[in-house]
Amino acid sequence: MIFAANFKTNHTRKSTEYYVQDLNKKLGAKDPEDKVYIFPPATALDNYEGDFTLGVQNAYPAVNGAYTGEIGLEQLDEFDIGTILIGHSERREHLGESQKTVSEKFSFFQEQNFEIIYCIGEPLHIREKGFEAVMQYLLAQFEGIDTGYENLIVAYEPIWAIGTGRSATVEEISSTHRALKKVIDGKPLLYGGSANPSNIKEIISIAGVDGVLVGSASLEVEKFSKMFL
Ligand code: PEP
Repeated sequence: MIFAANFKTNHTRKSTEYYVQDLNKKLGAKDPEDKVYIFPPATALDNYEGDFTLGVQNAYPAVNGAYTGEIGLEQLDEFDIGTILIGHSERREHLGESQKTVSEKFSFFQEQNFEIIYCIGEPLHIREKGFEAVMQYLLAQFEGIDTGYENLIVAYEPIWAIGTGRSATVEEISSTHRALKKVIDGKPLLYGGSANPSNIKEIISIAGVDGVLVGSASLEVEKFSKMFL
């Protein structure tokens, strides 16, 4: 199973350092088959050591250049980062990333052979229209995306379940993952949306769930580590 912590705009360089120290104390007890990822904010990227993968929440699709406020490949290489989140709903919604932008970013980091956790998810009004509407919406988020890419992990994150404390139901996760698995040819598929220590067992026991992308419940090591220990 994959357990990925997305800090979003939380934690500083200093608090991430403490987080990593505490995380490393916990990681010795995890199942060796399980993989843990952390995605701190860009200012907290560093040369951390431990049995986890350090990834970046976002980057600009360029090696370097005149892209004020962005970081590119050169800044990621400094810390040997080879894993990136692309397509998170918060970037699509609040930062205005279109499918074209998202797919260009995907192609650039695919060319760099990055491991890509590609996020997709539908808003509540689409979920309320039923399963077919959900699938149609999700399939549109694969436009321009090479689903055959070998370093691809997909995260299905219903927007209405993100940060709301209301996870999708077992049936909603199960049916959506079953359909998505066919689209991505069996590649790893994570669930994201209010996953926490209380519902994690149920979520990871669903067929077609290969792990979780966790926001709020990942901010404290104590809470996050309960999910994989
Ligand atoms: C996320 O935004 O990736 C996420 C899953 O957030 P939360 O766990 O807080 O719902």
